[in-house]
Amino acid sequence: MTIDTTNPATGETIAKHQELDDAGIEAALDRARTQAEKWRAVPVDKRGRMLRSIGDAFEARREVLARQTTLEMGKTYKSALAEADKCVSAFRHFAKHGPSMLAPETYELTSGGRAETRWQPLGPVLAVMPWNFPMWQVVRFLVPCILAGNVGLLKHASVTMGVGEMLDEVVREGGAPGGLFQNLVISSDKVAGIIADDRVKAVTLTGSEGAGSMVGEAAGKALKKVVLELGGSDPFIVMPSADLDDAVSTAVKARIQNTGQSCICGKRMIVHADIHDEFRDRFIAAMNDVVAGDPFDDATDMGPLSSMDQLETVEKQLAAAKEAGATLHGGDVPSRGGAYIEAGVLEHVPLDSDVAREEIFGPIAMLFRADDRDDALRIANATPYGLGAAVFSGDAEEADWFAERIESGMVAINQMLASDPAAPFGGIKLSGHGRELSRHGLHEFMNLKTVLLD
Ligand code: NAP
Repeated sequence: MTIDTTNPATGETIAKHQELDDAGIEAALDRARTQAEKWRAVPVDKRGRMLRSIGDAFEARREVLARQTTLEMGKTYKSALAEADKCVSAFRHFAKHGPSMLAPETYELTSGGRAETRWQPLGPVLAVMPWNFPMWQVVRFLVPCILAGNVGLLKHASVTMGVGEMLDEVVREGGAPGGLFQNLVISSDKVAGIIADDRVKAVTLTGSEGAGSMVGEAAGKALKKVVLELGGSDPFIVMPSADLDDAVSTAVKARIQNTGQSCICGKRMIVHADIHDEFRDRFIAAMNDVVAGDPFDDATDMGPLSSMDQLETVEKQLAAAKEAGATLHGGDVPSRGGAYIEAGVLEHVPLDSDVAREEIFGPIAMLFRADDRDDALRIANATPYGLGAAVFSGDAEEADWFAERIESGMVAINQMLASDPAAPFGGIKLSGHGRELSRHGLHEFMNLKTVLLD
C-alpha cells in the first residue's frame, strides 16, 4: 500500500510513499525504545546543543522544506518560508532557555523535612499531526520532546507525508542519533495499535475533534498521558473604541492566512452595532480584493485549499449556511481547476444554526452584529470550541473584561493571535486539553519526580 500526495493547485500526484508493514512498525518501535534508554541519560545541556545543531540543519534546508510544503498543501511559498523560520526560532529558543526550565526545585515540608523535585523523561512519545502547518506543528512537539530526554515518533497527515519524510532527514542531518525521531509512513488505522504498545509512553495529537476523540479514547484505554490540540472557531471582537483601520486589515489577514486553514485564526467577526455597518462594508470590500492564485507567485495572497476534499467540505458548509438563511459575499469557486476558493463573508448566520457552531476551515468569515459588550461576549462563547480569541478595543479596561470572560485558552488584544515558542499554546472545551510550547509544553510529557531528602 502507498500513501499518495497530491498538489492541490493542479491535482497532480506528487509521490507515492510506501507504507510501513507490521514488521517495519515493530522495528521502528524497537529503535525508539533503544534510543530512549540512551537519550534519557544524556545531560540536559548536551540535549540543548543537539537542538541548536538540528535548528542549523533546518535553516540550511529552509527553501527545500518550504517548497515541499507548498507543493503538498498549497500555502504560499512566502508563508512556508516564514513557517520554516519560525521552526528555527523554536529550536534556538529552547536550546537557550529550555535547560533552566528543567532545574530541580526544593520544598520545605510541613513535617520540617525537605523534598526535591526532578524533571525526568517518559520515553517514546507518538505525535499525530495535521497538514496545515506541516513543519511547525511537528517542530513544536519535537523540540520540547528532545530537550525533555524523550524520543519522538511521528504519524504525519497523509496530505503532507513528503514533509514528514524530509523532517526525518533534516533531524538526522543535524546529528541526531538513530531513533531519536522517526517519521512513520502509516495510515491512521495503525495509530490505536501504536498507542496501546508498551514501548510508547504518551501521545499528542493536533487535528480535528473526531481524530482527537479517537486518540483520546485509545490513550485513556491504555492509561497514557495525552495532549489534544483540536479545532477552533475563534471570535474576533471589534468594539467602537477600536482603531477601525487596524481592525479591518487584521481581520482580513487573520481570516485568509493559510487560506483560512489555521486553528487560531479569527473566524467569527463580532462587531458592535455602532460600527458594524462601516466595518462590514470595508471588510467585505477588503476580502473581495484578496488574490487567490499560484502559491509560488509572490503577488498571491493565498493559494488553494489543501485538497479537493477540503474544498468539498467548505462548499457543503456554505450551502448549509445559505439554507439556514445566511448571505454569502464572495466565496466563489473558480473554474480553473485545483482546490481554489475566493475569500468570502457570511452574514445573517443564525446563531443556532449548525454552521455558526462549526469551524469553517477555509477563507470564509462569519460576521455578527452585537448590541453591547454582553451581547458580544454571549456570541463569542456560543460555540463548543475554546481555542483562541482576539479583541479590538481602545479601552484597556474593556479589553481586559473580555480577556477574563471569553471561554478560550488564549486571547490577543489589538492584534492577531499567533503562537510563540515562549508562550503556552492550547485550548479548552472541544478545542482540547494540555499545552504546547513554553515550560508548560516542555513539562507535559515528563515525570515530575519528588524525592524526600534525608
Ligand atoms: P485530521 O483529519 O484530524 O488529521 C490530523 C491527523 O490525525 C492526521 O495525521 C490524520 O491522519 C490523523 N487522523 C485522522 N483520523 C484519525 C483517526 N481516526 N485515528 C488516528 N489518527 C487520525 O485533521 P486535519 O483535517 O488534518 O486538520 C485540521 C484540523 O486540525 C482542524 O480542525 C484544525 O483546527 C485542527 N488544528 C488544530 C490545531 C491546534 O493547535 N489546536 C492546530 C492545527 C490544526 P490522515 O491524514 O492520514 O487522515
